[in-house]
Amino acid sequence: MLDVLMDSAAAVRSAAGELATPVAPSAATDAKTIAQAARADIERLLILTEALWQILKEQHGYTDSELFRRITEIDLRDGRADGRVAPSPPRTCPHCGRVMIKARPLCIFCDKPSMVDPFER
Ligand SMILES: [Zn+2]
Repeated sequence: MLDVLMDSAAAVRSAAGELATPVAPSAATDAKTIAQAARADIERLLILTEALWQILKEQHGYTDSELFRRITEIDLRDGRADGRVAPSPPRTCPHCGRVMIKARPLCIFCDKPSMVDPFER
């Protein structure tokens, strides 16, 4: 009988030890996974952008200098040539005039729709 109790106690301690082992990945692992996924998304977007640009050049005659001029124009909208897009100014609801939440198509105050700029930041 004592042997059975000792074996049971050992089994409980073993199970408790297994439960104490972290099951979920650590925050650092989560951050690394998220960063790797973001990097993969960026690489895919770069490939898509370059492919689309090649199509535009080949089929519609656009030039690299035109693309460069447009990139510079967008970069300078905030007065700084820093390779970054300036944040969009707050958008007001056309129905009630209150400030809307970015990228949200419905006003939180009057629940009416407003057109969202797809490049809003
Ligand atoms: Zn509104």
